[in-house]
Amino acid sequence: MAQYINNDEMMRVASFYEPLRQRNLLFEQEFGRKPRAVVETHGCQQNENDSERLRGMLAEAGYDFSDDINDADVVVFNTCAVRENAEDKIFGRIGILKHIKEHKPHMLIALCGCMVQQQHIAEKIRTVHPQVDLVFGPHALYRFPELLEKAYKSRKTLLSVDDSDGAIAEDMPVMREDAHKAWVSVMYGCNNFCTYCVVPYVRGRERSRKPECIISEIEELARDGVGEITLLGQNVNSYGKDLEEDIDFADLIRRVNDIEGIERIRFMTSHPKDFGDRLIDAMAECDKVCPQLHLPFQSGSDKVLADMNRRYTRAEYLEKLNKAKARIPNLALTTDIIVGFPTETQADFEDTVSLLEEAEFDMIFSFIYSRRVGTPAAKMESVLSDEQIHKNFERMLSVQNEISRRKNEAYVGRVCRVLVDGESKTDSKMLTSRTDTGKIVNFAGDKSLAGKYIDVKITKAQTWSLYGELV
Ligand code: SAH
Ligand code: SF4
Repeated sequence: MAQYINNDEMMRVASFYEPLRQRNLLFEQEFGRKPRAVVETHGCQQNENDSERLRGMLAEAGYDFSDDINDADVVVFNTCAVRENAEDKIFGRIGILKHIKEHKPHMLIALCGCMVQQQHIAEKIRTVHPQVDLVFGPHALYRFPELLEKAYKSRKTLLSVDDSDGAIAEDMPVMREDAHKAWVSVMYGCNNFCTYCVVPYVRGRERSRKPECIISEIEELARDGVGEITLLGQNVNSYGKDLEEDIDFADLIRRVNDIEGIERIRFMTSHPKDFGDRLIDAMAECDKVCPQLHLPFQSGSDKVLADMNRRYTRAEYLEKLNKAKARIPNLALTTDIIVGFPTETQADFEDTVSLLEEAEFDMIFSFIYSRRVGTPAAKMESVLSDEQIHKNFERMLSVQNEISRRKNEAYVGRVCRVLVDGESKTDSKMLTSRTDTGKIVNFAGDKSLAGKYIDVKITKAQTWSLYGELV
């Protein structure tokens, strides 16, 4: 049974808002404005979800917000550890902050999230980047007001990186990015220990939120006008295994499907080893569950899958995928793939390409393997050269681009119901929206349509997006 942070502890943490507000009032008297906070999110949807809580807590403490670190009085980097390039980017950002802080000594710098949960990184920051005032891991997220207040008083970098399994904190303040769509975590952590992956080490063991907490959060969202929710977990198919109540993820989405005001339900991520008929049935039978499935296969070779500790074979994967395709009309498929896992040979890579051709995904998220300290794969020797791995990666993308374009072209002429996100970032005359299958559709329209569900006729297809017109 997952550990919950109790009420007394939440109250203790909340008692730190008052001194923070006092501190911020003094700031306002001195500078004629409220202090400004920047929260920069790196990595996955779980981090985006956590950042909305960080902003909620900062708002509660009396901060204003900005997007520009040059304007900031407090900067929080919510970091990612999944691949090395994410970490390099954050060290680059810390270097920039060092220069800004030289001219702005009162600026407070905080780092949180998965990257700093790794002891060797926390240690590096403390010794090499003393300009960072506060470092805290994912398990300490709910303690942010307390840590922030303490960091203001501390002369040294304050570290809060415990290696517990993590507990669940409910009812943190939240400031949501989007008025019409929201992330909802159903569980935290991971028990799978794929040999390349750092997530189980930094996010702790699997813990499911109680269904009543999830349902009441979604009911509140629906009352606030949020129609689309994405249920989040590292492996949503493990949902409920650690709860007293007899419930699994398929049961949960059926309950969410009954909530009035919710129009669309998405979820990620499903682990293929646990994905099965119960979830396929629930997806097919629940009208609000979008026909969209993200099912990472990682590699098309059975040998590499075994070395990755994925616990399914290529044939099992394809069988499940085909069952889902047969049962759910118009199902859009996405996946994650790693190229250059240490034991991957050229023949193994060819198996990945052939799986791509066989499965026909709408879109893939592909990554070059990155060695992560402390994971079993980090000790394995690489078979292929970096040059070959990069060549393979490029080839895989071109194979997939062709498939993505073909799948998108099949939409031309269809009328699709879309949720309008708002103005396109690249062309202010266009609106951007999404189909229930997760496809981006750009079309000309008035920005007052933002947040509405409308019908659009698809007129043109590209590899990454569709174009359409209002009907
Ligand atoms: N829990 C999810 C996703 C976790 S991380 C799942 O199991 O699917 C998201 C993706 O990052 C993974 O699916 C994998 O493709 C990729 N990834 C994880 N560790 C990696 C590493 N060390 N190198 C390259 N890609 C990695
Ligand atoms: Fe990482 Fe595997 Fe867990 Fe996904 S299931 S988070 S890839 S260990």
